[in-house]
Amino acid sequence: MYADVAVCLPLSRTFVYKLERPVAVGCRVLVEFRRREVEGFIVGLRSDAPKDVEVHGVKNFVDSAPLLRPEIFDLCKWISQYYVSPIGEVLKSALPPGINEKHIARGLKPTTTRLERREGIHVERLPLTADQSRALDSVCNARGFYPMLLHGVTGSGKTEIYMRAAEHFLERSKTSLILVPEIGLTPQLTDRFAARFPGKIAILHSALTKRQRIDEWLRIRAGETPIVIGTRSAVFAPLQNLGMIVVDEEHETSYKQEDVPRYHARDTAVMRAKLSNAAVILGSATPSMESFHNSQRAKYLRIPLTTRVEDRELPDVQIVNMREEYAAQGKQVVLSQRLLQALFTRLERQEQTMILLNRRGFAAFLLCRKCGFTFQCNSCSVALTYHRSIDKLLCHYCGLARRPPSRCPECDSEYIHYVGEGTERLEAEVRQLFPEARIGRLDRDTMRHIRDYERVLGGFRKGEIDVLVGTQMIAKGHDFPRVTLVGVIGADAPLALPDFRAAERTFQLLTQVAGRSGRGDQPGEVVIQSYFPDHYTFQLAVKQRFEDFYGQESRYRRAMFYPPFASLAGIMVTDRDPARAAGLARQIAEFLDSQRSNAIRILGPAPAPLERIKRVHRHQLLIKSSSRSTLHGILDRLQAYIEEKKIGATRVIIDVDPVSLL
Ligand code: ADP
Ligand code: ZN
Ligand code: ZN
Repeated sequence: MYADVAVCLPLSRTFVYKLERPVAVGCRVLVEFRRREVEGFIVGLRSDAPKDVEVHGVKNFVDSAPLLRPEIFDLCKWISQYYVSPIGEVLKSALPPGINEKHIARGLKPTTTRLERREGIHVERLPLTADQSRALDSVCNARGFYPMLLHGVTGSGKTEIYMRAAEHFLERSKTSLILVPEIGLTPQLTDRFAARFPGKIAILHSALTKRQRIDEWLRIRAGETPIVIGTRSAVFAPLQNLGMIVVDEEHETSYKQEDVPRYHARDTAVMRAKLSNAAVILGSATPSMESFHNSQRAKYLRIPLTTRVEDRELPDVQIVNMREEYAAQGKQVVLSQRLLQALFTRLERQEQTMILLNRRGFAAFLLCRKCGFTFQCNSCSVALTYHRSIDKLLCHYCGLARRPPSRCPECDSEYIHYVGEGTERLEAEVRQLFPEARIGRLDRDTMRHIRDYERVLGGFRKGEIDVLVGTQMIAKGHDFPRVTLVGVIGADAPLALPDFRAAERTFQLLTQVAGRSGRGDQPGEVVIQSYFPDHYTFQLAVKQRFEDFYGQESRYRRAMFYPPFASLAGIMVTDRDPARAAGLARQIAEFLDSQRSNAIRILGPAPAPLERIKRVHRHQLLIKSSSRSTLHGILDRLQAYIEEKKIGATRVIIDVDPVSLL
């Protein structure tokens, strides 16, 4: 008896080992590999061994039975092929780290994830809106695999549909998997589920300890919790008898894993639903271009929810032209007159306000007014951001911190100027203008732990905070009925990113944050500050015209041959030495060139927009293809070439369907 073993190393091929006793496919073993002992998964069995190589025996057996369910095993095989990721590494990431049979023998622990009810969560059954009922019918009438795009405007009650659908499947002894972008930012969804299905929920998120993760995983596997809510990696949750998968806010970029294996949890969820013959609901007010395109091609069924619950109006959105504001005030201001006035009114009426500024820190960068010197990170090609609370310049990529100099290191002038504003500055500004107002801030600097989210978001929900300022974190699916004003500052910034998805991201962000306003009895208002108010992204976001935006954006994507009208893979070549990075990028480009066909277009090599991160130089190539299978053919050959030439998997990174091109 012999086994094909996939070692948990960045190698795409498998190796043959001899088995002393029978053991099932999917079990983990320890084997000697290149004079080291490594863990691997048995991915196949065979009765003969290759003749020309020496075959070693398996050193040790880790599992006596496979821990992964057969459909998860198949899902991993799909990920490995689709995302060109070594199968051993994929299988490893599908299990909670450190799990072994002792944990199983120990038996189930009572739940360790805390699920207490918070104030302000209503559990009563509400009569569904006509839109909601229609959507629920579509879900409940689904037989087997059935991908749906639940395209519902903000405040249309998508969570209620998820819960009713989960109930429907629960009554039929079927389980449900709910994927969310980030647990800390979706406490309401979690709370509402927990209140509706007490004792039936497991929650998987990144803040769990290793031990908690294993315990939750075992409870799910034992069938104790038929509903699982979790982030990205919960797509591997060992639920049996799966009825439905929900991917909430399906357009969110956090569903993409930016490390090996580089899978997209949304697309992986669709594949899992297919393998499990389950329904799958992708929910969003601003679907990704890809998912909307799939609904246009009838690959997904689009279910529109066009009205807000209780016939609430969508908010009134206005754009302030910041060029005119500058001309009128004769200076650069953070808050326009219009936004100030609207904010003042809210404070008077004791209603709540959210202000989005998608940059943390105090000032965007430091500039010498005399010679134009800017303060860059030594290790990364980005400007350092000034954080006033700690009086430091910080690199947002590598964490470098240094004291801001009082004189220019280039010309010794004293005229150091703080340019651009961040959330810290915004908070200070609002505080100065409205000393009586109670202000909260939500960004990566203030949010260190899940408890920080609870404190700020909970305080805001209870009305202990009047004005919440923050980065895109405040744009997420929050439901605060007392918010009647949303302000957006520096709305243009994301448009300037060198990424073909810049307009899509901007449109999504504006629509999402606007959707936080007017969710209660009072109508909502939104004030967007922009220097380019005529850009189609703003014009269509103001009117919340998603389909027109999709049409406009599609024309650009089609002309430029970008997704969803082409399949895309990014190749990132890295090296600490700039010349070696460039040389390797040329070598890869030559190889790709030798594989070129009509269905392929190659861009690059070129330095990545962020040319250097943590002292590593980065060069980038993009492969576009009109045919998925042609793209995969070329990627497989590239992978084989990288392994054959021993270039090293960390130096050439293949990213299929990349979401970030920086
Ligand atoms: P979305 O996720 O679509 O933005 P939510 O699911 O957060 O919207 O719902 C918005 C609010 O409307 C929530 O407070 C929810 O409890 C409430 N809601 C949902 N369905 C109904 C309904 N049929 N009638 C009244 N209120 C509802
Ligand atoms: Zn200077
Ligand atoms: Zn840095």
